[in-house]
Amino acid sequence: MIAASERQEAALVADTLRRAHLIEHVPWSSMAVLVRSAVRQVPALQRALSSVGVPVAVAGDELPLADDPGTGPFLRLIGSALESRALTEDVAADLLTGPLGGTDALGLRRLHRLLRQRDAAATAGQDPGPGDGPADPAAAAGPLAAALLDPHLLAAAGRVADLLAVARTAAAAGTAQEVLWAVWDASGLARQWQAASAAGGTRGATADADLDAVMALFDAAARFDARMPAGSTAVFLDSLTGQEIAGETLAERAQPGEAVTISTAHRAKGLEWDLVVVAGVQEGIWPDLRLRGSLLGMDELVEAADRGLDPAAGAAAAAAAVALSSKLLDEERRLFYVAVTRARRSLVVTAVGGEDSEERPSRFLAELAGDEIAIEDVAGMGRRWLSLPALTADLRRAAADRGLPRPVRQAAAAQLARLAAARIPGASPAQWYALTQWSGSGPISDGEVRVSPSQVDKFVTCGLRWLIESAVGAGPPSVAGHLGTVIHAAAALVAEGADQADIAGRIDEIWHQLDFGSVWYSYRQRENASQMVARFVDWHRANRRELIAIEQKLRVRIDDVLIAGQVDRLERDADGRAVVVDLKTGSSKPPAADLQRNPQLGVYQLAVLLGAFIELGATEPGGAELVHVGRAARPRSAIVQSQRALADDPDPGWAQTLVKEAAAAMAGPQFKAAVNDGCRRCPAATSCPVDERGGQVTS
Ligand code: SF4
Repeated sequence: MIAASERQEAALVADTLRRAHLIEHVPWSSMAVLVRSAVRQVPALQRALSSVGVPVAVAGDELPLADDPGTGPFLRLIGSALESRALTEDVAADLLTGPLGGTDALGLRRLHRLLRQRDAAATAGQDPGPGDGPADPAAAAGPLAAALLDPHLLAAAGRVADLLAVARTAAAAGTAQEVLWAVWDASGLARQWQAASAAGGTRGATADADLDAVMALFDAAARFDARMPAGSTAVFLDSLTGQEIAGETLAERAQPGEAVTISTAHRAKGLEWDLVVVAGVQEGIWPDLRLRGSLLGMDELVEAADRGLDPAAGAAAAAAAVALSSKLLDEERRLFYVAVTRARRSLVVTAVGGEDSEERPSRFLAELAGDEIAIEDVAGMGRRWLSLPALTADLRRAAADRGLPRPVRQAAAAQLARLAAARIPGASPAQWYALTQWSGSGPISDGEVRVSPSQVDKFVTCGLRWLIESAVGAGPPSVAGHLGTVIHAAAALVAEGADQADIAGRIDEIWHQLDFGSVWYSYRQRENASQMVARFVDWHRANRRELIAIEQKLRVRIDDVLIAGQVDRLERDADGRAVVVDLKTGSSKPPAADLQRNPQLGVYQLAVLLGAFIELGATEPGGAELVHVGRAARPRSAIVQSQRALADDPDPGWAQTLVKEAAAAMAGPQFKAAVNDGCRRCPAATSCPVDERGGQVTS
């Protein structure tokens, strides 16, 4: 079965297990979910299944402690306390929104805003004033840590700051166990998780799993302390974060006999269950054909060939790589066979795929299905999930549907009342968004608004998507981003005089570090990269303008709007005017009719006019260009789309008006959903009132 997303796949797996248990009375313990990778797949499945009421037991040695949702935050916090450089922005966000900080995305955004205000005050040389907290203890840990160590900023930041201080003090002389205990005790999570565990339900099951993981962490610390002296906490953390598989004593995460087993295929050898779901069968994960170079000496061989140490080494490395890939594929196929033969009665194999997904189902899925079995596309089935959230949603819909007979609506309301009494989330009207109060009605940002040329473009296209994708950061990671980064770097090399062969060599050097999800896709993208570079080199050769700068940062103000960003190329035309060139590597291009009002190009020109490049002697905009070298280009040459100079436009002030209006609207509080060509691949569609995947919340 193919799902449209990982989330839908998790729902599909949960649904399959629940149907088997509730309708066919298959005991939970007679079912298993098997995956290829413990680190990448087990935690997500464990969380997803627990959250919809499927009791799960993760085999003791499947989940490394550093990746466990219960213990990971403790390890990251202690690591940050010991080494301030470990407190990156991602780690800080993780700590703040995890169980230790306890805030959410909104709280995080408020903290960001406070930090920006502090930065602005500091830049302007203002005294932050009393009540903004002492700066000193955080000085060594950088501005982000300074915010975390200031208890007046936000409660979550204060909690994390306190715990960092506790960890730092304990680590000065204590053992790993003592540091862990000090943080655990100060966090207060023991009481919270014990209460959740005693209350039972899905939250109780999650709390049980978290408590088990913490117990296992203490156990690992005790064993470590028996071997190492006090003050070695950093070594303890290192040993855990380098751990690929968990310690041997980590407890099973639920009582055997009461739960569905989640396990890797490796660990399932010799075991059988009535129903087996083999999940996450994706190309790139299963088969996993990354060359295990360190084990087999491949890296050394390839490196020798690259450096020309041995002329025969290149051919030998290539031949060995092919042989190794084929061997790995055979191994992976055997492992898949092990997984699918663990089922005594029923087997379900799931993967993610479909037009709107960058994921691709594994070749093993098609091999297994052959001509006999039809692979079902879940996305198109309109399947009704057998889960409490789905039931609650159905009842809510029925209770509110004035087109239904009154007795049906009353029955739905009565069932909802039963669910609400049992504290099922979403059943009580007190939790219905449309009936609750607005959390706030003011602008989401006050003071200076910061915009970039590309952000203005996105905002003008659709305000809601901009809000969800850019401001909240809900966009999916994209492998296309890797390719874009490489091509921009290659374009910079061309500008420095490198030829096509030099660039090909440089790209080959770094290509293996990029994760494209599967080997064949990586090859295809490598070919695409060559074509894009060739198109760019040709365009560059024919371009007669003088190059002033590449990848030049810009930062310029207009009233209370800060325009900040970067131009790919800044050039001077024959009349001495500045032309900004933006390199595009994607597959779409704006319609020619819209080009003269293209927001991104207009904002670039405005930045030139406002003096963003005054130190380079570029003050008069002479137009701007999009140079397409990706799939939007012709097969053999780039496509250039030009915008005339602002001064040549019938309304030379249009870009300035646009920036001011966009900046004012970006502050909210209203964001308009505007249907456009990009809706099909919009990550915000499920929250969009004008898209059928989203829908309007009504009272
Ligand atoms: Fe905007 Fe279309 Fe996305 Fe809705 S689906 S948020 S209209 S881009």
